[in-house]
Amino acid sequence: MKTETTYSDSDLDRGKCSCCGDISDEILIEDGRCIECIEEEIFYESTMRGL
Ligand SMILES: [Zn+2]
Repeated sequence: MKTETTYSDSDLDRGKCSCCGDISDEILIEDGRCIECIEEEIFYESTMRGL
């Protein structure tokens, strides 16, 4: 199952992810992490809930 999380352009900026350290155009400003890391966390949490 794919997570359908959408972010607006104003929420995103180019920068360095505080989690994986990658330079990305999709850093969530509020969070400081790239979308990939955030999606991974959401997926992990939903998996834990499922078990
Ligand atoms: Zn990251």
